[in-house]
Formats: sequence, structure tokens, C-alpha cells
Amino acid sequence: MKKIAVVGTGYVGLVTGTCFAETGNQVICVDIDSKKVARMRNGEVPIYEPHLDVLFERNIKANRLSFTTDLEAGIQDAEIIFLALPTPPGEDGSADLRYILGVADELGKLLKDYKVIVDKSTVPVGTAEKVHAAIAKHATVDFDVVSNPEFLREGFAVDDFMKPDRVVLGTSSERAEQIMEQLYKPFVRQGNPIIFMDEKSAELTKYAANAFLATKITFMNEIANFCELVGADVDKVRIGIGSDERIGKRFLFPGIGYGGSCFPKDVQALVNSGLENNYSFGIIQAVMEVNESQKTILFPKMKNFFRGDLSGKKIALWGLAFKPDTDDIREAPALYMIDALVKAGANITAYDPEAMENVKGVVGDSISFAENEYDALKDADALLICTEWGVFRNPDFDKMKSLMKDSVIFDGRNLFEISEMNKNGFYYSSIGRSIVS
Ligand code: NAD
Repeated sequence: MKKIAVVGTGYVGLVTGTCFAETGNQVICVDIDSKKVARMRNGEVPIYEPHLDVLFERNIKANRLSFTTDLEAGIQDAEIIFLALPTPPGEDGSADLRYILGVADELGKLLKDYKVIVDKSTVPVGTAEKVHAAIAKHATVDFDVVSNPEFLREGFAVDDFMKPDRVVLGTSSERAEQIMEQLYKPFVRQGNPIIFMDEKSAELTKYAANAFLATKITFMNEIANFCELVGADVDKVRIGIGSDERIGKRFLFPGIGYGGSCFPKDVQALVNSGLENNYSFGIIQAVMEVNESQKTILFPKMKNFFRGDLSGKKIALWGLAFKPDTDDIREAPALYMIDALVKAGANITAYDPEAMENVKGVVGDSISFAENEYDALKDADALLICTEWGVFRNPDFDKMKSLMKDSVIFDGRNLFEISEMNKNGFYYSSIGRSIVS
């Protein structure tokens, strides 16, 4: 059993804290947001993440998981302190380290005995050194800083954390290495590796992983765009290349671009780190540019369909979250489509199983929200699909047709088979495939 403090209880911090409690550790989560802490103390999970609620409740009941706003009280007994703080893009796009270094500075004043401070946030190369320096400025006791980037995916966060493909630990301290290895052992029982390395390599591993994945998606999006021009079918091409083991089947689905709180900011931060070191990342820079236009690639198609005039058109919108199984809307392509459509005078009625509250906070009453996916379709001139929630995959097409004014679908996530749509009598425009009309 280890005593752990987790500072920051967002998607990463809360999952980290809960999963460490689940493996028998004593965890205190610290957050600056007092409303959030009050909700968690009341037994409420403040984010939507599948399976988290069960573990959350169980570990609170067992007194292994608690919450506070008081950093000093939270870290007092902890041997390991995780920093799961935001690293948003600063004005120039590089990672803003204000939260991390601010807490590191406070920690320096609070440490009374040896502790391992673990950076779980995604941070540029050299941050562990900066965190070390910020703590060392005030600290009078021994401490170690470890870089432990997190690879969990929102929507699968608990599974990913409990059974990670790998755990990356960057440290030059043998003492910290042993403590961290003990902590993570229960999570790699199937034989997945705990990979030890230096701090800088660990920090870069996270950016390299996200930049690679963003590149893979974007590559496929470009192939899809080209398929449309030459009459090829991206589904066939995807299966054709994915069966080559060097390429792999996963992450090859084309769509309206990547979003979320990680890929856009991490890709940008890596480009910026490059520039700070007089290095220009050609591929990654191009990935950013292609993704930017991909997010609204359906807009000109919709405009064209309505002969250049979207004003007064009623558009049903399925899916707001940046991907399914999350309520996270940060950098969601849906928001970019909403912006373009509202500016063009369209009236949008949206439905998302989890993300509507978050979107209301951003777009106010510029769009309407529906109770369910079918309500959104009433009298719609067209349906736009921006997120591939499972519930949208197998709809009642007859019911859809009876509700909509016109049987028109623009699908940014290729949810339906072309052959199926041919039979169903919809006008159907998707990504990288022929239009059904
Ligand atoms: P988040 O915005 O969801 O949560 C951050 C939390 O930190 C918030 O609850 C906020 O109130 C709290 N906080 C801010 N300042 C604080 C302070 N001084 N003291 C205590 N708490 C404070 O962020 P997130 O999505 O969990 O991401 C955290 C880090 O993990 C980022 O660097 C991100 O890039 C990285 N990451 C995120 C994911 C993901 O899927 N979300 C995956 C891997 C890595």
C-alpha cells in the first residue's frame, strides 16, 4: 500500500487517483476547483467516463479515496505526488507550464520528508528539470521528480489505465524507480512492459505518440479526400493497406478531423518545441494544416447541395463530443461545423448523449437541443453526423425519413454502408466514398 496524492482531478487525475485506490493504495485527490471537490465529496463523478463511477463509489466507501482543496493537507502523508494538471496551449501554441510550475513552487515550501513528484501531464522536453528547479528553490528535504506520461484514451480511460499497453517512467533516481515500479506492478501483470528511461525521452515519447497518431489519421483523411476526386472507395483502400502488419488496421478511419484536448494542443506544442530548438517539423506542420481544413470539409458540400444558400435550412446534428463515449468537447469538429453553419444562417437542432450541457456553455442559444436523436430530426432539411456514438450506428431509417423534411445525410464519420444507403433511398454524402443520390 502506498500513500498517494494526485493534484488535479480532470480526466487524467481522477482516473489515476481512482485506479490507484482500486489497487489498494490510499489516495487523496487535490483540486483548486472547490465546487468540483464538493461534488466529488458528495459522491458525484464530475466527468463522464465509462466504468469510472463504479470504481469511484467503491473506493470512497472503502475510505481509500478522498478529496480536498488543501494542497498542504493533501500531500502531507503522501510518498508519491502526481501532477495531473492542465498544460493548455499558451498564446504562441507552446505548452503553458504555469499550472505545473505554480504547484511545483508551492510543493517546494511544503515538503517535510522525501517524496516522489510525478509529472503525469503532457509536457515539453525539459519540464522535469524545471519542476525540479522550482521545488529545489525552497525545499530543505530530498525529493525526486519522475516523468510518467499518460496514454489513456477518454472513453476507455479506466480500461486503459488498469491495463496499459506500457508504462513509461522517466527518472534518473534508483530510489524513485523502485517506488514507481512497485506502484505499477499490479497494472502490468499480463506482461506489458514498464519502460524506464531518462526524463527527456519520457517527455518526448508522449508527444511523439500523439503526433504519430494525429499523422496517421490525417494521412487517411487526405487519402479519403483524394478517393472522392478519382472515384475510389476509402473503405476498400483502408482494408487494403491495413492488412499489412507494418501499417496495422487501427486508426485508419477517415472522418472530419481529429479534435479533443490532446492531439491538437500536443501536435502544436511539438511544432513549437521544434522551433525553439531551430528545428522545423515539416510533416507535423502539414498535419496541423490538413486537419484544420478537414474539420469543416462537409460545409462546402452542404452549401453546394442547398445551391449556395443555407439560410433558414433546418439541420439536425448528431454528435457534439470530439469522439464517442465522452462529454469532452474541447476542439470538437462539431463546434467548427456549428460555427460555419450558424454563420451561413442555418438553424441547428443537436443531440449528443453526453456532451449537450458542455456545448450549451459554449454556443449559448445559437442552436437548439433535442431530447434524443429522433427528436432532432423533426422537419430537418438534412442530418449532419459529427460523432460516431454507438447509438447512431443502427437507426430506424424509415422513422428517420418520416420525421425529416428531406432524406439527406452528411456523414462526417462514415457510419453507414454505401450499399445500405442505396437501398434506403437517402441522399448520402460521407468521407472518401461515392455520393448516394
Ligand atoms: P483537465 O482540464 O480535465 O483537468 C485539470 C484539473 O486540474 C482540473 O480539475 C483543474 O481544476 C485542476 N487544477 C488546475 N489548477 C490547479 C491547481 N493549481 N491545483 C489543483 N488543481 C488544479 O485536464 P486533463 O484532461 O485531465 O489533462 C491533464 C494533463 O494530462 C494535460 O497535460 C493533458 O495534456 C494530459 N493528458 C490528457 C489526456 C486526456 O485524455 N484528457 C490523456 C493523456 C494526457
